[in-house]
Amino acid sequence: MALRVVVVGIPGVGKTTVVQGVVSGLPGAKLVNFGTLMFEAARSLKWVKNRDEIRKMPVEKQKRLQRLAASKIAKMKGKAVIVDTHLFIRTDEGFWPGLPFEVVRAMQPTHLVLVEASPEEIATRRSADKSRYRDSVAPESLIEELALARSFLAVSSTLTGAPMNIVKNEQGKQGQVARALVKMLGKAKS
Ligand code: AMP
Ligand code: MG
Repeated sequence: MALRVVVVGIPGVGKTTVVQGVVSGLPGAKLVNFGTLMFEAARSLKWVKNRDEIRKMPVEKQKRLQRLAASKIAKMKGKAVIVDTHLFIRTDEGFWPGLPFEVVRAMQPTHLVLVEASPEEIATRRSADKSRYRDSVAPESLIEELALARSFLAVSSTLTGAPMNIVKNEQGKQGQVARALVKMLGKAKS
């Protein structure tokens, strides 16, 4: 069975690191970053200069980029496609779904994975990441975002019929988390 794994998590949980670990444990797996596809399109339209400006644009514009990225991913073939993306985006118009019905259906995920971390670890990672323009939010808001992510995850799972997995990415345990996910994905084949 071809695997299509959608990996999600709020900014700063260490999702990208976990995803890279999963890809290196799955020979032939392709990694696709949803935000990069959106950013490439937005940059060539001269809408933004960096990826953290995307979420500041009017939602109508973001929707156009989102649909474009989803249709590119929908066409990707391969033994295993791993998608690094978000369940929701904190926009100026409110929390906006990263995986609305048409988008998540088009990607046809076989598995959903939510990466979580403690609010303290998320705050530390966000402020340490100088390559990004991360929003700094209060610890209470991080707790709220973590809870919100679980609700959005259940919706995506229900819309697609794909099983959902929740993993805790504790500091220094990225390798362990990635190996556990590779093992879980191996069950799809046996
Ligand atoms: P990332 O590098 O994963 O943080 O992605 C960069 C940016 O791309 C995010 O801050 C969002 O603005 C956008 N993005 C990524 N995935 C999605 C999605 N599924 N729906 C809408 N916007 C997204
Ligand atoms: Mg990332």
